[in-house]
Amino acid sequence: MTIFEKIIAREIPARIVHETDEFIAFHDVNPQAPVHVLIVPKRVIPRLAESAPSDAELLGRMLVASREVAQKLGVVESGYRMVINSGRDGGETVPHLHMHLLGGRHMTWPPG
Ligand code: C5P
Repeated sequence: MTIFEKIIAREIPARIVHETDEFIAFHDVNPQAPVHVLIVPKRVIPRLAESAPSDAELLGRMLVASREVAQKLGVVESGYRMVINSGRDGGETVPHLHMHLLGGRHMTWPPG
């Protein structure tokens, strides 16, 4: 069971900002920006590289829901960045697909 499944099961506390029957959004414990929220599907997909065509609608709904999360946290107007780290070189550390929503400061490019 990944740490995110434990958060979804309420076995580990998290600062939840949004939840539907399909996914949950909570503040990252190690924020990299003033706003740093993870959007995590309740159904485990290990990583983006292992997603299937049948996951497309769920992943699309999560992306679209980022707007609602960003709105709640006051960064819709100023802008925000969505990040998915997949695999070793992508920087993935938790093998449960998640989208990072980062905002509240100006993001630089290229990413580290
Ligand atoms: O994309 P990556 O797999 O590296 O992201 C994992 C994220 O999960 C990290 O940003 C880390 O801070 C976060 N995390 C968390 N709560 C935990 C464990 C990890 O927010 N209990």
